[in-house]
Amino acid sequence: MLQKTHSAAGLVAAECVLMYYHMPVFSWESAAGLMIGCIAGPLADVDKKGSTMAKVLFPLSAVLRVLKVKHRTMTHSLLFMAAMFALSISLPEPLFWCFMLAYASHPLIDLLNEQGVELLWPLPIKFRLLPKFLAVDTGSEMETAIRYLLSILSVVLPVRYYLHM
Ligand SMILES: [Zn+2]
Repeated sequence: MLQKTHSAAGLVAAECVLMYYHMPVFSWESAAGLMIGCIAGPLADVDKKGSTMAKVLFPLSAVLRVLKVKHRTMTHSLLFMAAMFALSISLPEPLFWCFMLAYASHPLIDLLNEQGVELLWPLPIKFRLLPKFLAVDTGSEMETAIRYLLSILSVVLPVRYYLHM
């Protein structure tokens, strides 16, 4: 899926965490949480040549390419997520969960794609949530619809929450 779709999903994931922790809207932590969400969402695509994340994190993407790590394998796996979990555990709790849930939203969304995700990497088994005829192609109208829905959620959820506080 496209980077902007993953960023939108990461943003919604981070907002849910911030609401769960009753974080004030205008605070340093909330701003950091939202930014982490937008970046952690597309982060797994550092394994995809030419992606924004591969360009931004060039040394890391170069290492992945040298190691011949294929797209939607290692960085999209549960094992890698466990490693991320261990690496980011020292973050303040709300920011840690913003990062983890936004990162996890990535393989979840990719599961809607026809190509599937190797969730149990290094086992070469591809998982996908939808049958081929319903699968969401990258850049398709269906993906655009999902992105719009996520964008609407990213506005409606916090507005509703803070109006009812
Ligand atoms: Zn991906």
